[in-house]
Amino acid sequence: MSDFDFDLFVIGGGSGGVRAARIAATHGARVGIAEEYRYGGTCVIRGCVPKKLMVYASRFSEEFEDAAGFGWQVGESSFDWERLIDAKDREIARLEGIYRRNLERSGVELFDTRAVLEDAHTVHLLTDGRRIRAERILIAVGATPNVDATLPGGEHVITSNEVFHLADLPKRVIVAGGGYIAVEFAGIFAGLGAETTLIYRGEEVLRGFDDDLRQVLHEEMEKKGIRVLCGDVFSSIEKTEDGLIGHTRKGEALHADKIMFAIGRRPNTAGLGLEAAGVELASSGAIIVDEASQTNVPSIYAVGDVTDRVNLTPVAIREGHAFADSVYGGKQWSADHSMIPTAVFSQPEIGTVGLTQAEALEKYGAVDVYKAHFRPMKHTLSGRDEKMLMKVLVEPESDKVLGVHILGHDAGELVQVLGIALRMGATKADFDATMAVHPTAAEELVTMREPTERLRA
Ligand SMILES: Cc1cc2nc3c(=O)[nH]c(=O)nc-3n(C[C@H](O)[C@H](O)[C@H](O)COP(=O)(O)OP(=O)(O)OC[C@H]3O[C@@H](n4cnc5c(N)ncnc54)[C@H](O)[C@@H]3O)c2cc1C
Repeated sequence: MSDFDFDLFVIGGGSGGVRAARIAATHGARVGIAEEYRYGGTCVIRGCVPKKLMVYASRFSEEFEDAAGFGWQVGESSFDWERLIDAKDREIARLEGIYRRNLERSGVELFDTRAVLEDAHTVHLLTDGRRIRAERILIAVGATPNVDATLPGGEHVITSNEVFHLADLPKRVIVAGGGYIAVEFAGIFAGLGAETTLIYRGEEVLRGFDDDLRQVLHEEMEKKGIRVLCGDVFSSIEKTEDGLIGHTRKGEALHADKIMFAIGRRPNTAGLGLEAAGVELASSGAIIVDEASQTNVPSIYAVGDVTDRVNLTPVAIREGHAFADSVYGGKQWSADHSMIPTAVFSQPEIGTVGLTQAEALEKYGAVDVYKAHFRPMKHTLSGRDEKMLMKVLVEPESDKVLGVHILGHDAGELVQVLGIALRMGATKADFDATMAVHPTAAEELVTMREPTERLRA
């Protein structure tokens, strides 16, 4: 009998930690897990899930408007923020319960406490001071929103941690940031009726995404009445009797009831005892791991956002699963971080997989671009001035599809399926040979015959 309390102790009950704990326990390991806030982690409690529910809520205003073009007369509508938040909270509590029960059913022992490392095998549980000895430790503590600590008045802003619990819907909102969380929340607030501004220090929103998507999203956000200010940043935040004023470097004074910062996230490694255990960190604070998610300390592993590889829920889950199978299930594998399909729940939505045009051109020196920018059928009657963008990038020599980028209704749903095709190495000829589904927007993907551009480096 080993002198360890557990074979595996997991710190963090989010996407990656919960999956790893359950799978390891299923393989027969004695597993404990500590969570300092709520089981389910960022995704379930204050990330993907509540956000998507709020995106749904925010879309109705346009649906009501669009209905008129189809003969509907929709009566006066009103929106009740408190009801939405209550309903969302009930759903999150239900999901949290499922996470807890699933862990318990798998035989995992749950500890509702913050846990910190003391050495390569010891975890200190802060609630009751207990010390746990484990043969292996998995760190899955996720990440936390960045705030600008040097910004005068920065204490008045909120982040995604607070946004899901505001007492009221703010009438005027400013979102600072240009990443996916920033554009998603700008869309949510605008859809719910708030006067919304997005301010971003970079040249264009959604750095790292295909340039056409970025530009078209910017235009579509403006059509929805969102003020999008790129190339500017707050220099101070002033609290007044009337709310907040965000002063910008370019000299604007932007008035708001709430200012939300979505300027990136940093790994949750501060105060975790990693130095004591000798775990190596990158300058970003991320835990450095190898392909097997193992740190430089052989008994300590890390998965998910804390490793800052690809910070998405399905990736954290895959990494946790691979770790548990490899170490406890006798089945060696690791998560593949290439060709990950992903969605941005902006309005309109984005779905993207594979290389951007710039990346494709840099890597292959030649790329054929098939692009369609069109008014979807629904808006012929709704009258809404909103266009859909579809882009297929092809390597001319091999005919291989290198990337697909979509902006428009259900782009996230579409790209899940396209991800399978691209992983299988689909060529443009495969796309062409696939019968169209008519009438859909997606049929554009298989009916674009001639490249709109033939780019050569
Ligand atoms: C607003 C928002 C929207 C998002 N939307 C999407 C999306 O649409 N799609 C998508 O794929 N991803 C999305 N993400 C990202 C996704 O939430 C993360 O990639 C994912 O949750 C990472 O999982 P994880 O296991 O690494 O960490 P987390 O899920 O963050 O879990 C870490 C857990 O560890 C706990 N913890 C931290 N320190 C300790 C400690 N010392 N002791 C005990 N417990 C501790 C935390 O309380 C937390 O519950 C979103 C994130 C945010 C913030």
